[in-house]
Amino acid sequence: MKRLLTFLSILLPGLLFVAPAFSFAKVKVFACEPEWAALAQEIGGEKVEVFAATSAMQDPHYIRARPSLISRARKADLLLCSGASLEIGWLPILLQKASSDLQPGSIGYLMAADVVTMLEVPVVVDRSMGDVHPEGNPHVHLNPYNLMTVGKVLADRLSGIDAENASLYKDRYGDFSSRFRAAISRWESEAAVLKGKPVVVHHKSFAYLIDWLGMKRVGTLEPKPGIPPTTSHLKNLLQKLRSGPADVIIRAHSDPDDSSEWLSEKTGTRAVVLPYTVGGDEQSGDLFALFDRIIGLLRETNGVQQ
Ligand SMILES: [Zn+2]
Repeated sequence: MKRLLTFLSILLPGLLFVAPAFSFAKVKVFACEPEWAALAQEIGGEKVEVFAATSAMQDPHYIRARPSLISRARKADLLLCSGASLEIGWLPILLQKASSDLQPGSIGYLMAADVVTMLEVPVVVDRSMGDVHPEGNPHVHLNPYNLMTVGKVLADRLSGIDAENASLYKDRYGDFSSRFRAAISRWESEAAVLKGKPVVVHHKSFAYLIDWLGMKRVGTLEPKPGIPPTTSHLKNLLQKLRSGPADVIIRAHSDPDDSSEWLSEKTGTRAVVLPYTVGGDEQSGDLFALFDRIIGLLRETNGVQQ
């Protein structure tokens, strides 16, 4: 008995020391794109450890399922991605090695496209023509209301995974959504001058932004999402723009520049690169700064003084 007590007196302080370390373990969030990593950080604060699988300079349609990504996904507690086939070329490979809690339908599997209203949903799913948006447009984060919707679901999921900190996630979502809602009002009034303005895009990455701001897409350099511009398509587009010109030609950093520069030269319409996500340029360091920057650049091309 005495020996047992001696043993426990050695062991127990160790246990007491170890136990809190377990209860304070951070929730590991695997975010497929930088916007979701930024959102997870907003909602989870110090209680989450966030990993972003891609950078703002990469095209999330085309990522290689590297062993380092597979290993990160295997250790994750929650997966937060755009969904709707954006990550179809790499996420299924990562999921093969991930835990059952990360599989579709589980608490740790959160696809933004599953919880927001999608744009450009085709009547019939058809991948045969190489369209990389077979389930609708997956670039949902550029409507800031969608970020609030996903943030709310994310707070619920984090609470389910880490019940001890449920009130913290709820409070952090409340704080984020009130700050973001105020910012949205400001962005909407700043962007009022852009309403109805005709734009040409390279890829349909900015569809939700254009829809939110009430701008008008009058052309797309890609004949179909993911299909590089062809000479005949560009010629037709040029013809169309001669009778109804656009105000600006928009592309993301990961889009090739040759077609938009060619069209800009032919039409005299300015071509701009907009940050597509957090980290897209030096001024777009978080979700708030991203929209500040995008709207600032669009106003600038429209001749509005900052
Ligand atoms: Zn796309």
